[in-house]
Amino acid sequence: MNVARSSRERSDLRIALFGHPLGHSRSTELFAALATAGGPRIDYQPVDIAPQRFAAAIERLRAGEWDGANVTIPHKRRAAESADALDPIAATAGAANVLVRADDATLVGANTDGPGFVAGLNTLGDDNPLREDAPAASAVILGSGGAARGVAAALASRTGRVVLVSRNPDQAVSASRCRPVLGWNDRRLERTVREARLVVQATPLGMAPRVTEAPPLPPQWLGPHHVVVDLIYAPWETVFLAAARARGAVVLNGWPMLVEQAAFALELWAGAGTGPQLRDAVARLGVGND
Ligand code: NAP
Repeated sequence: MNVARSSRERSDLRIALFGHPLGHSRSTELFAALATAGGPRIDYQPVDIAPQRFAAAIERLRAGEWDGANVTIPHKRRAAESADALDPIAATAGAANVLVRADDATLVGANTDGPGFVAGLNTLGDDNPLREDAPAASAVILGSGGAARGVAAALASRTGRVVLVSRNPDQAVSASRCRPVLGWNDRRLERTVREARLVVQATPLGMAPRVTEAPPLPPQWLGPHHVVVDLIYAPWETVFLAAARARGAVVLNGWPMLVEQAAFALELWAGAGTGPQLRDAVARLGVGND
């Protein structure tokens, strides 16, 4: 993606994080580590934006209050609708977690959640269900929000069947190009989950502070042949992920994805080469080693 920007230095960027709530986010730590390690200094500002104020936040971004934004729960779909152009994953997903403001005040929306998720799976080594020599893996994604759609869009060309699970499957189908979508009570769900290789938990259920919640998926449907990824990283291990681990599944939390999606986003705001700097800084300073 080519975004015209000349007036600001790469090391002098003001980036907003739009979300509601924001208490769970640890993105600020990543950019602090980048600066500590001698990388570009990003003025990264969490901005709690209630849904009814999202349009006003977009206008502030267009007006130049920030050079770009990260977008998190629950605004990713509206971020995609607000952008003047979208990268292919954001267009397929109908969800953007990154906005880049060009010098002419236009906004480009990108989805780094999907590529970040795929890159994060590399931490699983031989258990990575997407590794080149692995058989095509089918995937079930719990939820149909911004992150679920980004992951589905990124998985579409790399895996076998990708199925989403939603409380409103009919609406979810019409609102996205991701399909099929099953309801939580659909009688096909048990078989679909049992036969899948990859199960992705992409709802906020279990996220701090509501750490006792879990998606309504019986853990007995999971077993040692599954790779289960919960996109949540606060708490480090959700109730759902702990139950999957107890059933013998290979498990991964949302931290590797968080680092990877931020590295991809940084490259869009600050230019090529900055993503590896962020990954190195986080690894060197041990951020996330909870
Ligand atoms: P979102 O756009 O608000 O979507 C969340 C989806 O979860 C909703 O669309 C909904 O799907 C489902 N959901 C919400 N409440 C539910 C409930 N009570 N029961 C069943 N399903 C429910 O949020 P998001 O941006 O996709 O984020 C989802 C989660 O992923 C959050 O916890 C977020 O922190 C995490 N995340 C992590 C990373 C990372 O880098 N690790 C990146 C992105 C997101 P339906 O309406 O279809 O039922």
